[in-house]
Amino acid sequence: MNKYLEQLVELAKYDTQIGSFEPKIKSQKEKLEEFSKDALSLKEQINKLESDIKDIKSKKSKHEAHLAELKDKLSDISKKGAIVQTEKEIKALQLEEEITKEQISFSNEEIERLDNLQNNKNETLKEAIAKLSEEEESIKELQVAIENSINDINVERNDVSMKRGELVEKIDSKILSFYEKVRRWAKNTSVVPVRKQACYGCYMKISDKTYAEVIKSEEIVTCPHCGRILYKEIEITE
Ligand SMILES: [Zn+2]
Repeated sequence: MNKYLEQLVELAKYDTQIGSFEPKIKSQKEKLEEFSKDALSLKEQINKLESDIKDIKSKKSKHEAHLAELKDKLSDISKKGAIVQTEKEIKALQLEEEITKEQISFSNEEIERLDNLQNNKNETLKEAIAKLSEEEESIKELQVAIENSINDINVERNDVSMKRGELVEKIDSKILSFYEKVRRWAKNTSVVPVRKQACYGCYMKISDKTYAEVIKSEEIVTCPHCGRILYKEIEITE
């Protein structure tokens, strides 16, 4: 193969490699974001549970205060019971006593229900807190792993950039600027092989004349259809 063409094939390989590093780093960072999102939703769940528990406690204390009032009322009723004379007064007092007792038992039931609810919420809260601490632990581990992996990628990137720099110094400036022009639009498919007499950038057949030029490879040949730089690969026997 022509020396210039060989250099371009190598240069295109480096450029493709260099272009692949950024997405690799991005995907690592996205992984971390996914974990952070989970931790955030756990924190929200914990906040909600804590506020629910606060509400329950406040409702419970209202019922307890009411219960104390009802018990005072009941003792008043029993004191009055010793004084009342008429049948009518006795009946009214009995009715009042009945209603008060009903209210007491309702408040007791409510307090019991709220107690159960609070216990359940406390249990869920405990689980969520444990899960969050686990999640935070794996985030820390992941952060270290991702940092290492990004460091590795950067080392590789520097290595490839250095090799590319060394190669660029050797390449004829006209050929280099021609390559850069093609690369501006063709990106990673700027230098493509010819297979089955077709350009592997646009997949169109090339003429026998162009094909012969590619095989000879005395100079840089471009695809007459798309303008990509063509080269002949070493034939792989089928
Ligand atoms: Zn083409």
